[in-house]
Parts: sequence; structure tokens; C-alpha cells
Amino acid sequence: MTDTTQQVALVTGASRGIGRAIALKLAGDGFAVVVNYAGNAELANQTVAEIETNGGRGVALQADIGDSASVIRLFDQALEAFGRLDVVVNNAGTLQMANITTDNVEVLDRTLATNLRGSWLVMAKAAETLREGGRIIALSSSVLAKSFPAYGAYIASKAGVEGLIKVLANELRGRNITVNGVAPGPVATELFFEGKSDEQVASIAAMAPLERLGQPEEIADAVAFLAGPQGGWINGQVLRANGGFS
Ligand code: NDP
Repeated sequence: MTDTTQQVALVTGASRGIGRAIALKLAGDGFAVVVNYAGNAELANQTVAEIETNGGRGVALQADIGDSASVIRLFDQALEAFGRLDVVVNNAGTLQMANITTDNVEVLDRTLATNLRGSWLVMAKAAETLREGGRIIALSSSVLAKSFPAYGAYIASKAGVEGLIKVLANELRGRNITVNGVAPGPVATELFFEGKSDEQVASIAAMAPLERLGQPEEIADAVAFLAGPQGGWINGQVLRANGGFS
């Protein structure tokens, strides 16, 4: 029989990187966790195995967050698995570098499909599903403040996400559901390292006054704060967890 006394969190993109750290942190905080992934079933199963080794409950569910039918199925299967849903963290995201040229418009389309359309779909389904007291948290990025060349598609997508966070917080008036964002600075994951030379990594890492990359666990701590009992009065905000990279 499904135990419905335990709070449940769904984390998109939790097979690796920041999402994995969020899933493990929320499991440690007492949530049963739905570990969503796009293609890496093995890594998602490893996240679940680690949750279970630590005495928690988890389930790995595949879904492309940019696809409406997949997102609906994801939420249906999450409710089937654990009987309730309290926290939704839309973490899944993609970064492709491309200058703003006519040739590169497909990079914009692909990036928006996952980062912006995906955020819309997951946040919308969360708003339709969550009960009173629920929390919706979406991942943005502190790189918005930097306007680096070749980040146009990514920055456009995350600026859109920050817009959605604030609008949805207003749309949920009266439901006692908070909607917030976490905007990490550079964090040591595949998404950040991909395509960068050691020199580029070192130079970006040195930009924050704390002079290092963030770790996925440090972003997970910020998300857990917003998801937990101490984050209840924060609403419509984007928390910039970035060591001062701004
Ligand atoms: P990673 O590339 O390390 O991991 C990406 C995760 O998202 C994987 O679990 C992947 O699943 C999943 N994913 C990708 N596309 C989809 C999709 N269409 N549907 C479902 N899942 C998908 O990324 P990070 O951990 O670095 O980034 C996590 C979030 O943090 C992103 O939103 C990113 O923009 C944001 N961020 C990251 C920063 C950084 O420096 N790392 C800085 C600022 C923000 P699979 O393994 O199955 O492919």
C-alpha cells in the first residue's frame, strides 16, 4: 500500500549534476523523490539507489520536459508511485553556445524547447497538481547578469524562466503555493565544463569574489531552503546562489 504521509518532491533532470544533488538533499530532508531524466536511465537509477541506500524512497521516471504529453505522463506516474506531490523542482536544462547569427537559430529553438517550453510545462502541471502549501522551484542562471558572447539562446531562455516564476507566483494567489527560482553561478557539472578549455574554466571560476566554482550540493542547499519549512515566506523571488558572481 502507498504510504501517503511522507511528503513527495519531483526533480526534473536528476540523473546527474545539480538535479542529482537536489534529489539526494531533498531525500535526506525526508521527501520521497521522483527522479526525472531524459535519456540516462542508468544514472537516474543510480540516484535512486543512493537515495535508497541512505534509507529514503525514490523512483526514476523518464520524460522529455519539452514534450507536453510526456510531462502529463510524468506527473501521473509520480502520483501513482507516491500518492501525493508537495514540491516540484524544474532543474532540467541545456546549454549550447552559439553566437546570434541567422545560421544558429536552430540552437535558439532547441534551447527554448527544453529550458523555456519545458519550464512552462512543468510549472504549469505543478500548479495544476500541487496541494495547498506546495512549492514550485525553477532553475535559472546567474549568467544573465554577464551577457557573455555565445550565451544568447541560453540567457534568453533563462530570462524567460525568471518571467514565468514571477507571473505564476501571482497567478497562484489564494492557493498558498510559492513559486521561486534559484539562479546558480558557474557550478562544476558537465553542462558547465562541456566545450571549455582549462584556461576558460579557470578564468570563469575566478570571477566570483569567492574565486571558485560552486558545487552541486551548494545549489541543492538553496533549493532545499525554498522547499523546506524555513522558506515559506519567500515567494516570487530568484535566489542567486553564486559566490558573488554577478
Ligand atoms: P547537466 O547537464 O549536468 O544535467 C542536465 C540534467 O537535465 C540531466 O539530468 C539531463 O538528463 C536532464 N535533461 C536535459 N534535457 C532534458 C529534457 N529535455 N527533459 C528532461 N531532462 C532533461 O546540467 P546541470 O546540472 O549543470 O544544470 C542543471 C540546471 O542548472 C539547468 O537548468 C542549468 O541551466 C542550471 N544552471 C547550471 C549552471 C552550471 O554552471 N552548471 C549554472 C547556472 C544554471 P539525462 O542525464 O537523462 O540527459
